[in-house]
Amino acid sequence: MALQIIQSSLYDSPLYCPSCGFNVVKCENGELVEPDYTKFCDHILYEYISELWGPTYLSSKTKEIFKKNNISFTQEDGIYTLTVGDEEFDLAELSNLFDGKNSFEIQITTPAPSFQTIYYGFEMK
Ligand SMILES: [Zn+2]
Repeated sequence: MALQIIQSSLYDSPLYCPSCGFNVVKCENGELVEPDYTKFCDHILYEYISELWGPTYLSSKTKEIFKKNNISFTQEDGIYTLTVGDEEFDLAELSNLFDGKNSFEIQITTPAPSFQTIYYGFEMK
């Protein structure tokens, strides 16, 4: 079952975890601040940014799900590369790996000319 998708255009606003209130996306003076991934709360499954072509954060649960689905991952310069066999894993399929009962994905899109989208998988516990 795929994740429920929640789309947002509030690209210059802070984002808080709906479960624990953790400040996921920080903004200072209207600019996004790069997060400290070592301090993400337990409810975040993954983060990826459309312009980077790979996740910048994967939780330990997400890595377990990758292993069960034979998805390999390597990390270089803070960006994960995902592969299935010899093929690159299609990130559009990422949200299909999780149980939609307790989880959802928030997509934050910056308007033209950027159109950059940041994807956050969340799991409520
Ligand atoms: Zn949280």
